[in-house]
Amino acid sequence: MGANMRVLVTGGAGFIGSAVCRLLVGQYGVSVINVDKLTYAANPRSLEAIARHPHYAFRQADICDRAAMEQIFAETQPTAVLHLAAESHVDRSISGSAPFIETNVVGAYQLLEAARLHYSRLSREARAQFRFVHVSTDEVYGSLGAEGRFCEETPYAPSSPYSASKAASDHLAMAWHKTYGLPVIVSNCSNNYGPCQFPEKLIPLAILNALEGKPLPVYGDGSNVRDWLFVEDHAAGLFALLTRGAPGERYNFGGGAEMTNLAVVERICDLVDEFAPAAASRRSLIAFVKDRPGHDFRYAIDAGKAQRLLGWRAQETFETGLRRTVEWYLNNRAWWEPLRRRVYGGERLGLISAAP
Ligand code: NAD
Repeated sequence: MGANMRVLVTGGAGFIGSAVCRLLVGQYGVSVINVDKLTYAANPRSLEAIARHPHYAFRQADICDRAAMEQIFAETQPTAVLHLAAESHVDRSISGSAPFIETNVVGAYQLLEAARLHYSRLSREARAQFRFVHVSTDEVYGSLGAEGRFCEETPYAPSSPYSASKAASDHLAMAWHKTYGLPVIVSNCSNNYGPCQFPEKLIPLAILNALEGKPLPVYGDGSNVRDWLFVEDHAAGLFALLTRGAPGERYNFGGGAEMTNLAVVERICDLVDEFAPAAASRRSLIAFVKDRPGHDFRYAIDAGKAQRLLGWRAQETFETGLRRTVEWYLNNRAWWEPLRRRVYGGERLGLISAAP
């Protein structure tokens, strides 16, 4: 399907990026060059299935390093870019925003410039095929009330340092299309979940704390709503953008699976109880904690454009996807145990303590 494609994936050792690399190399026959700095959030184990595949190459590099990016473009001659590298955790952006501005804004700029140089050197035919897909979040739209859904025309109103940094990079990416003609496509996606997600995010943190009998922190009263998308469905959507997306356009992806945070954690408790029975229900571990500053109340996505124009549709329901996810964490202790011990043990992040 993608035999002639050579895609430079940034952030391919992260949660979504690794799912994208596994899909492109493992199922679609696409050649991938994974460019990743390997921050705390990266896990090369997520790529074990394709690490020795002839269509897969890895380059450890920082997207902020323009010379390194230009060299990688020149040496590997990609036919497309899927840009996922980012600092991605809202709570960490509240505790310390500097790496978010550096990677998400300045890094995106450096990558766009390196891509523009590469694009300018391509033949007319190669330019017609080239795409730069900038992967972003629905958090750029800010918060919804009880009604309505985000569409591609929803004005930007980011609340957190993370979402503001992503919004900035979305604007840069679109400006590089309008001003320089770089064939940029922007995707805005709802909360992802699935295998290989770093256990600082709600779902894997709750699964692992439930397994280990630790408190399950729920922010505020747990009524905040997210629209959950299984990571492999998102990866399929990004491939559809590479092949059928129109330059200069943005596309929203969502799972059509709105849940309150409390309902998510309760369902995780029930699944962990089912797979690993304990004396008491894991629901007894739920602990309401101080809310996140600037916590958006609700996100919901209208994915109609992607469905109509790309033929894309989420395949997993939240129930089937969550079941797969819980089973995966239970069966893959070697993936997460070292992270829990050495990188992040589950302590609270993102409370404002003092002025910087
Ligand atoms: P992640 O934190 O799991 O992975 C990020 C990856 O980027 C890591 O492998 C890290 O090493 C790499 N990276 C970070 N800084 C880098 C740099 N300067 N140079 C090169 N590599 C660098 O993130 P994720 O959850 O997989 O998210 C991927 C992308 O999707 C991000 O752009 C994020 O904003 C976006 N997104 C995520 C979600 C979600 O729910 N996770 C939803 C919508 C959009």
